[in-house]
Amino acid sequence: MEASEIRALFAVASRPEVVSLAGGMPNLAALPLGALSEQVARLVAQDGLTALQYASAHGLPPLRERICDVMALEGIAARPEDVVVTVGSQMGIDLLTRLLCDPGDVVLAEGPSYVGALGSFAAYQAQVVHVPMDAHGLVPDELRVALVRARTAGQRVKLLYTIPNFHNPAGVTLAAGRRAEILEICRAHDVLVVEDNPYGLLGFDGAAPAALRSTDPDNVVYLGSFSKTFASGLRVGWVLAPDEVRDRLVLAMESATLCPPTLNQMIVERYLAGHDWQGQIAVFRDLYRERRDVMLDALERFLPPGCTWTVPDGGFYVWVTVPEGVDTRAMLPRAVAARVAYASGSGFYADKSGGRQMRLSYCYPTPERIHEGVRRLAGVLEAELEPGFSTGS
Ligand code: PMP
Repeated sequence: MEASEIRALFAVASRPEVVSLAGGMPNLAALPLGALSEQVARLVAQDGLTALQYASAHGLPPLRERICDVMALEGIAARPEDVVVTVGSQMGIDLLTRLLCDPGDVVLAEGPSYVGALGSFAAYQAQVVHVPMDAHGLVPDELRVALVRARTAGQRVKLLYTIPNFHNPAGVTLAAGRRAEILEICRAHDVLVVEDNPYGLLGFDGAAPAALRSTDPDNVVYLGSFSKTFASGLRVGWVLAPDEVRDRLVLAMESATLCPPTLNQMIVERYLAGHDWQGQIAVFRDLYRERRDVMLDALERFLPPGCTWTVPDGGFYVWVTVPEGVDTRAMLPRAVAARVAYASGSGFYADKSGGRQMRLSYCYPTPERIHEGVRRLAGVLEAELEPGFSTGS
């Protein structure tokens, strides 16, 4: 295993004088902490003997029912028995890779892709082949090309791992018109789709895009999470899987952790039952939209000519491409010296390409800090682009 670049970055970027546009921490300040603490106290007082005890590896039935209500917002009709509760969706990704991939199997993933998933694919020695995206998400023709190329090379393609909505790190969303086509291509090639959708309810216009799972329940495994819509520290996520995968996943959960944390599952279940959770998601959406606007405005105002970036309609991230000659990884220490941090693009590719890209996140800093952070970043980029400047790398 390789230490993730992003984790290594955390140490420096978390110094208070540095504006960190690097991490992806949700902005929990908007949560009703008073009401939540009363609810947790009541839960322990009244149901502590259940809440503090082991439970089923499959997840608590009342929570699984409520998870079906959440997924209904994305057009998914699911049965609670098909939901497996996991310790964050990260664990879902990890266990699915363990179950489905042998060393050397190919996993197709967008280029760039989520760093935590790349870590799991590497840990189980799956080989990642990136499929290009454009402003409308994964490009169907590129998917066809990748599949044919893999087949010609005698490789076994096991799954397509995709983040269709408000992509981490690219910030783009798969166009509605491409969804059926991508599902059809995967079916035709007998490739399972793993749809990772932690940001799907955080679209800035309020409408949740229909999940891939909603139209192809037999060939799509869906991953969900309460990390971005409620509380990431509770580590409650889920997998909605076709029968055969589901049964093996429950066994894998059992061997990995016996059962997901009972107390945390009950906190989420009571929260969904007793709070206006959809109203809370709307609060998060407004907060992130405001920060997105500030970031886009600052990028427009400050970044030197030749830089381009994606325009996210939801989620946490903007993906920036810088002019030729700039290496975002080599530049990072100079940016941190100028008191701004970002995630360099190479961490989001299994082959470490992405040298001219960086991920900026607007989820956590205040609007003022976002503005100032982008201003500092622009200064660093301008110095990098000055004639005669050499990165020495
Ligand atoms: N998938 C994606 C695309 C993510 O961005 C994240 C968190 N950054 C995860 C999965 C993991 O989320 P969690 O384990 O907190 O549910």
